Amino acid sequence: MLEITDIPIDGYEEVRRCIDAERGLHAIIAVHSTTLGPALGGMRMWNYGSEAEALTDVLRLSKGMTYKAACAGLDLGGGKSVILADPAAKSEDLFLAMGEFVESFGGRYITAEDVNTKPADLQIVARRTNHVTGLAARSGNPSPYTAHGCFLGLKATAAVALGSEDLEGLTVALEGAGSVGSAYARMIHKAGGRLIVADIRAEAAAELAADTGATVVAPKDIYDADCDVFAPCALGGSLNGETIPRLRCKAVVGCANNQLLEPRHGELLRERGILYAPDFVVNAGGLINVYNEVGTKYDQARALQMMDKIYANLTEIYTIAFDEDLSTAAAADRFAERRLAAAATASA
Ligand code: NAD
Repeated sequence: MLEITDIPIDGYEEVRRCIDAERGLHAIIAVHSTTLGPALGGMRMWNYGSEAEALTDVLRLSKGMTYKAACAGLDLGGGKSVILADPAAKSEDLFLAMGEFVESFGGRYITAEDVNTKPADLQIVARRTNHVTGLAARSGNPSPYTAHGCFLGLKATAAVALGSEDLEGLTVALEGAGSVGSAYARMIHKAGGRLIVADIRAEAAAELAADTGATVVAPKDIYDADCDVFAPCALGGSLNGETIPRLRCKAVVGCANNQLLEPRHGELLRERGILYAPDFVVNAGGLINVYNEVGTKYDQARALQMMDKIYANLTEIYTIAFDEDLSTAAAADRFAERRLAAAATASA
């Protein structure tokens, strides 16, 4: 039986804990904002050290989704869910219970894939709720689209930081050879880029290296790699006070969410002369793709056309940063907040 409790958090519309001891579920869903529409965001499964750690993660991730949708021009709000469990402990019962938990939001929260959840898991969730996107029979796995959007962001960033969007001969150091990281790496390889990769799963890094000719380094060494672009594609917080001083790149363009450990790290990147492509702007491709199946028949051509805007949005954010003397992270926040404020005023 589901035991749902509210966790009141300032600045968030709804945060709920759900425990179903019989079916092994301990999860939190956070709805940060529905100002622009229903809150859409993936379902992450992770072996968190504590509930406090999981709560911090889901709060950061759901707020990031609000900003991601706002920047991408989508009529969606921001939400996210986390399941506190070892991914090896996946079961049908657990995802059925999670489906009921999602359903309890009555459509204000719509779920999708995220770290350690796959379309097959979401298929089970969909037996208990219609508020699921990214199913195989609809828009499918969003990861290749996230990678595609990031690849467009890489070109836009290379044009500004390196003087050309041509990726031939460019070296990218990539952290995390998972679903989005490996798809992104393959696109870079196809465009003539060189790769240095690291993953805590040695076999994932080795497989990617076999396909792309990448050099493999240990995860702890990826920040020291001599490269043009650093690409965080694993978990959040990898850009921090310890790693940023070690970076030997001109730009950061990766698919991971919440790359900056703290907002001040956006400023630290600027001080180091590293052009940072704000994560929620460049990794919006997957969200744009699933958006194109919400309440409508999925149309891949329309979704890809909407993703093209990532290049233009990023270029505009770089212009705001230069004109207003801000870090690119602060400029992206401003870009998103202007749209949110306009929507809030219009509905008042
Ligand atoms: P994934 O689980 O498939 O891949 C993550 C990879 O990172 C795994 O291979 C894991 O072993 C590796 N990893 C974890 N910690 C590491 C570390 N310290 N050093 C090196 N490698 C490490 O997940 P994914 O779907 O590829 O997502 C990756 C990131 O992209 C996450 O931050 C996710 O929130 C973000 N993201 C994903 C999507 C999507 O469409 N899947 C969309 C937007 C953002």
